[in-house]
Amino acid sequence: MLGARLTQPVIMWFRQDLRLADNPALSAAAAAGQVMGVYILDDDTPGAWRWGGASRWWLHHSLKSLCNRLPIVLRKGKADAVLAALIRESGATALYFTRDYAPWSGALEQRVRAICEKAGVDCHRYGGFLLHEPEAIRTGAGEPYKVFTPFSRAAFAKQADRRPRPAPRIDIANPQIASDRLADWNLLPARPNWAAGFASVWAPGEEEATARLERFIESSLAGYADGRDRPDRDSTSRLSPHLHWGEISPLQCWQAVRSAMDGARGALDAAGEKFLKELLWREFSYHLIHHWPDLPEKAFRPEFDGFPWRSDDRALHAWREGRTGYPLVDAGMRELWATGYMHNRVRMIVASFLIKHLLLPWQEGEKWFWDTLVDADIANNAASWQWVAGSGADAAPYFRIFNPVLQAERFDPNGDYVRKWVPELADRPASIIHRPWQAGGRLDYPAPIVEHDMARKRALAALKTIKQADA
Ligand SMILES: Cc1cc2nc3c(=O)[nH]c(=O)nc-3n(C[C@H](O)[C@H](O)[C@H](O)COP(=O)(O)OP(=O)(O)OC[C@H]3O[C@@H](n4cnc5c(N)ncnc54)[C@H](O)[C@@H]3O)c2cc1C
Repeated sequence: MLGARLTQPVIMWFRQDLRLADNPALSAAAAAGQVMGVYILDDDTPGAWRWGGASRWWLHHSLKSLCNRLPIVLRKGKADAVLAALIRESGATALYFTRDYAPWSGALEQRVRAICEKAGVDCHRYGGFLLHEPEAIRTGAGEPYKVFTPFSRAAFAKQADRRPRPAPRIDIANPQIASDRLADWNLLPARPNWAAGFASVWAPGEEEATARLERFIESSLAGYADGRDRPDRDSTSRLSPHLHWGEISPLQCWQAVRSAMDGARGALDAAGEKFLKELLWREFSYHLIHHWPDLPEKAFRPEFDGFPWRSDDRALHAWREGRTGYPLVDAGMRELWATGYMHNRVRMIVASFLIKHLLLPWQEGEKWFWDTLVDADIANNAASWQWVAGSGADAAPYFRIFNPVLQAERFDPNGDYVRKWVPELADRPASIIHRPWQAGGRLDYPAPIVEHDMARKRALAALKTIKQADA
C-alpha cells in the first residue's frame, strides 16, 4: 500500500464484504483512484432487521481486524443519508459497493444511486457475496426455482465467470474526515458479558477465515460426507459467520475445494461435492429471498398462515434456556448461548422441537436465532426455519416429526455432545444419556416438558386443520 495523500477520493462502502481479497468492488475502487473505506452501522433504515447481539459482537471484532489493515471511516445512521453526507464532506468522485440481497436493500441501493446521480458521482455496484446473481439462474420457462435439486443442478452447470483475485494494491485517501470510534458503538455486551465464551471459539476477520478454510480442507474435508451430521465430531467447516460477514467469498471456498478435489484424483470427490452442495443451499436461500422478499416474515406456503400455533411463554423460555428435558435439544440451545453457534443437525432438531413438539410459531425461533447466532443471516435463517416448519419452498413435510431421542441416539451415539453441553448428565452412560428419565434416582435435570407421543399427535391434528381449511 502507498502512503496517504490529499485528493478527491473514491468511496468504498463496506457492507457484508469485510475483506480485501476477492472483493470485486474494492478491486475496482482501488483501480479507480485513492480509496476512502467506509462502514456504516445502520440501525435506522425502516423495515430493516437490526443486527442481533451475537452479530454485533462479531461485527466489532471483524471491523477491528479490517481497520488494522485499511483505515476506515466509521459512521452511524441511515446508510443513504450518511453516504450523502460523506460524499459532500470528502468531495468523492465515485462510490463502490457490493450488492446486498436483504429485502430492504434493493430500495436502499436505489436511493443511494439517486443520491450519487444528484451529486454527479459515479455509482458502481458489484457482486461477490454469492457465486451467481439470483436472476442468473432460472428454469427453462424463465421462472425462479422453488425446488433445490434442479436449482443446484443448474448452478453446478454454470461455470463461475471469474477466478478469485488477490487483495489489490490500495492507494489510501486521507480526506481528513471525522470517524466514530468503534468502541463508542457499544457493539460488545455490557455486563453481564454473555459473550465471554465466544473468543475461545472464534477469531473474526479475513485472516482467520482464510486459515479456517485451509485447515478445513487439510484436516476435515475427507471426513465431511460421513461426519457432517455428527455434532460430536469436528467435521464441518464452521465458515458460516465468515461467509455471512464476507470475510471470505463463496468463490474462494468453491475454488479451493475444487482444486483440492482435482489434486486428490477422485479421493475427495464425494466429500467435496457434498460441501459444494451446501454452499449451493446458501445460494438457494438467497435465490428465494430475492424472489420472495416476505420470506423472513411470512410463510412461503400461504396455507400455513392459518396454522393453529400455541402461545406458551413458559415453554418458549425453557426452549431458549436449554431446559426442555430432552438432552440433545438442551445441549444445542446451550451450545448456541455459550458460543453463538449450533451444529446444523442440532439446529434442525431444536427447530423441529419448537415448531412441532411445542407448537410455537417458527418466527419465534427465527427471532431467537437472529439474536444469538454469530452467523445469523437473513436468508439462511428464514429459509431454514421455513424448511423445518414445512411452510417453505421445497421444505421437509410438516408430518415428518423428529423424535428427539432417536435423533440423538443416531447422531450422538456415545452421548459426547450432550456430555459437553449438559454437565448434569456428564456421568450418565451412553445407554441412558438421551433418555435420562428412565434411569431412576435423583437427577438435577428437568423432566421432559412435553411427552413425545402426545406432542406428535397434537402436531398432526394441527396440521389437519390447515389441510381441511385448504380443501
Ligand atoms: C433452523 C435453522 C436455522 C439456520 N440459520 C442459519 C443462519 O442464520 N445462518 C447460516 O449461515 N446458516 C443457517 N443455517 C444453516 C446451517 O445450519 C449453517 O449454515 C451451518 O450449520 C454452518 O456451519 P458450517 O459453516 O460448519 O457448515 P458447513 O457444513 O461447513 O457448510 C459450508 C457452508 O455452506 C452453507 N450452508 C451449510 N448448510 C446450509 C443450509 N442448510 N442452508 C444454507 N446454507 C448452508 C453455510 O454458509 C456454511 O458455512 C440454519 C439451519 C437451520 C436448520
